[in-house]
Amino acid sequence: MHEKKDFKKPLIIYYIIALIVVMLLNALLFPQIQRYSVKEVSYSEFLKMLEEGQIKSVQIDETQIAFTPTQQLDDGKTTYFVTNRVTADEKIVDRLIDANVEFAQVVPEEMSPFIEFLLSWVVPLIIFYALGSFMFKRMSKQLGGNSMTFGKSNAKIYVEAQTGKTFADVAGEDEAKDALEEIVDFLHDPQKYRDIGAQLPKGALLVGPPGTGKTLLAKAVAGEAKVPFFSISGSEFVEMFVGMGAARVRDLFKQAGEKAPCIVFIDEIDAIGKRRDNAGMGGNDEREQTLNQLLTEMDGFDAGKGVVILAATNRPEILDKALLRPGRFDRRIPVELPDLAGREAILRVHAKDVKTEPNIDYTQVARATSGCSGAELANIINEAAIAAVKDGRKAVSQRDMEEAIETVIAGYQRKNAVVSPRDKLTVSYHEIGHALVAAKLENAAPVQKITIIPRTSGALGYTMQVDDEERLLMSREQILDKITTYCGGRAAEQLIFGRITSGASNDIEQATKLARAMVTRLGMSDTFGMMALETQSGQYLSGDANLVCSDQTAARIDVEVKQIIANCYEKAMQILTDNKEKLHELAKILLEKETITGIEFMAVLAPNQLPSTFEEQKSDEAGETND
Ligand code: ADP
Ligand code: MG
Ligand code: ZN
Repeated sequence: MHEKKDFKKPLIIYYIIALIVVMLLNALLFPQIQRYSVKEVSYSEFLKMLEEGQIKSVQIDETQIAFTPTQQLDDGKTTYFVTNRVTADEKIVDRLIDANVEFAQVVPEEMSPFIEFLLSWVVPLIIFYALGSFMFKRMSKQLGGNSMTFGKSNAKIYVEAQTGKTFADVAGEDEAKDALEEIVDFLHDPQKYRDIGAQLPKGALLVGPPGTGKTLLAKAVAGEAKVPFFSISGSEFVEMFVGMGAARVRDLFKQAGEKAPCIVFIDEIDAIGKRRDNAGMGGNDEREQTLNQLLTEMDGFDAGKGVVILAATNRPEILDKALLRPGRFDRRIPVELPDLAGREAILRVHAKDVKTEPNIDYTQVARATSGCSGAELANIINEAAIAAVKDGRKAVSQRDMEEAIETVIAGYQRKNAVVSPRDKLTVSYHEIGHALVAAKLENAAPVQKITIIPRTSGALGYTMQVDDEERLLMSREQILDKITTYCGGRAAEQLIFGRITSGASNDIEQATKLARAMVTRLGMSDTFGMMALETQSGQYLSGDANLVCSDQTAARIDVEVKQIIANCYEKAMQILTDNKEKLHELAKILLEKETITGIEFMAVLAPNQLPSTFEEQKSDEAGETND
């Protein structure tokens, strides 16, 4: 197999290193060869040394005589001498006895060469091999794949006890739950469906923005069906080594086939399911192979067997068409951002995990969190709990929740940020500018709160607006009023100080985005009418748009957008000029109090209106104007 080559390489390098280490060890640990030095002398010299009494001990063999001198050289080594035994000299033994020379072992005893070889080469190599393969196994386990045995994917098998999730954990998303309920039923009793001849979809694709509970839903399906749950993330297929992705897919489906009925869940499937293109070079072969393998496996499956493939993505538009055709992920389950009721339900589910005061108004919190995903709502509850602990309280209060919303939307308060009095004054007028314009416009959402406490997000203050009701559609007038509200901040600075600041950057960005959408996508400009000039890519993510028009049209779009914003700015300026007195008055109050509620705001702006109407306002759809 050609993948194996990649793997053998590091092994060979490892053995070469081991060999070198063994050689070094041999030199260091078995140095006795060098601890002796042997000097050969002639027989006559031997006799001379014997006469002079220089010989301490001797060893006589058949062919040679070895001896040590009485005085060793002091280089640390033991030196012994050898000389050829002259057989003719028969009296040598007597003479040695006479000279009082000791008969002893002089030549150091040698190990048998076989044992020495064994000890100095084979044993260390065996030890290295054992150590090496042990480490290699651990390493590959850490990397997540058993790289020694190919085609063994590490799809994690969750069984019911481990996912521990049920549909009760997923709040809202009733349509998605309904669709998945069918699958759960099928997994409980596939035979029922087989008997009647019904074909259940092989796969279902959960699509929706990040944090709406897609992964959670898949786990809940497994929990409800009480079947094994194989889950793997798309990105896990495309990692490490070439050819692994396809092997993993193959293995995943093999394992799943053995465990049927079961669920295979591929999270973030866009990582492998991206549309294949024939753009010559730069194609991602590895990914394509993986995708092809996935398509093949899905086709090869007998749906009646009880294997259901779920996948999740927040970029359905980039998926390969082949994945979506019937027989594959033919069922598409949208998991959208929660509506008012959904948000309240999600808040309640997560509030179960924390201690709360008994009188929490979840509806109010849900109203103020329009556009938040389930994950963000879970985060709000958690932030509220943290705030309560910081405060030394034992339960979460309504106040904690409200503060947590702002924390999640606008970042933490920077209470000790140093803002110069001059900047504070500018920010006060800026924020009141937004609020005043919003209050005077017919179609703008009511102001809920105005603050000039800086946030970690960089905002020096913001105006929070909460709409009366959940809005799914926006009219042209509402959009224009929204843009006008964005313009209010800058207009107030211009009107009061005659100079403008960088504080409006976020407003400008938002206003431009809206105005542009009006012209290019919403068909709300007089010049172009109902003409799509942009296509949106990634509806669930950033919402990037690509122009689909000529350069001349693009230039005209810019003119149009500029005109819309200019008109709105003029309108905002007009409102502020007409209400300059109130602007001064409110800015002064805000500067003093740093935070004022919508009710306090309206009490000053329209004192003859009954404040009670504001207390009872049915509001939803939050929007805030930063800076
Ligand atoms: P996704 O996979 O869609 O990006 P997740 O399923 O990972 O989102 O959701 C992240 C977390 O958000 C979940 O673990 C859960 O705590 C919370 N959450 C999201 N949606 C819901 C929901 N509908 N009900 C309850 N909790 C939710
Ligand atoms: Mg997910
Ligand atoms: Zn602003």
